[in-house]
Order: sequence, then C-alpha cells, then structure tokens
Amino acid sequence: MEQYCSVCKARYDMSVVSESSDDGVIWLKCPNCQGILPHMPDIADDAETTEVASAEPGPVSDETFGEELDTAMAKPYSPTGHYAVGDVLYHRGWGDHGLVLERQELPGGRGLLKVRFVKQGEMQLVEGAPG
Ligand SMILES: [Zn+2]
Repeated sequence: MEQYCSVCKARYDMSVVSESSDDGVIWLKCPNCQGILPHMPDIADDAETTEVASAEPGPVSDETFGEELDTAMAKPYSPTGHYAVGDVLYHRGWGDHGLVLERQELPGGRGLLKVRFVKQGEMQLVEGAPG
C-alpha cells in the first residue's frame, strides 16, 4: 500500500503491519526508515489522488434517499388529503420530505400511509380524514 512517509519525505509501497486494531486504523511500515505510521488518505498532493476504497456499498443512505426524492413535485401533507404510493409529500410540521411507500385502506374511505421521510425515517400518517 502506497503511503507518504513524513520522516523520509517520500512515498513508498509499504507493508501492512496491522489492520485489525479496534479503531480501524491500518498501520504501515516504512521500508526506508522502518517507522510505523498510520495509513491515512493522502492530502499532501491532490494531483496524485489514489482511489481509496472507503465508500462501502450498502443500503441506500438517507442522504442518497433525500437526493433521489423529487421534492419539486412534493405535495404538502394534510390529514384530509389523498395520496398514492409513489407520491412525494412535504410535511410542514417537520419540514421534511417523504415518499409514500404503502397505502392501507381504512374504513370510511380513509387511508393509512407508510411514508419514508428523509429526516424522520419511516412514519405512519393518516389521510382522507374528514375535514
Ligand atoms: Zn520512512
């Protein structure tokens, strides 16, 4: 793993000494000065930025979720309104946008919505309530 050694003031292909420490720091050994140094993203020279595989693929993050929402199309949420799966809502009270994931029919023409909000997470909201 290539790393800049501040002692030698040069880059070396260093061997990994330990990568199982509790704090997740990868320790490298400089082949020149034999010094042990923690591996860190190179901020010294931007020109030669090596792709660090730090972005872990995983479930869609809340950030990405928020970016994917078409908030320009958001409908203001009101308990008396009617919404469908796939609708983007804006909840004024929370200042939060959400996507309708499910709609469950309730007696009296009302509905129970399962909405995933950007900040609040998954919430249940009623709709179609008599004004
Ligand atoms: Zn060194």
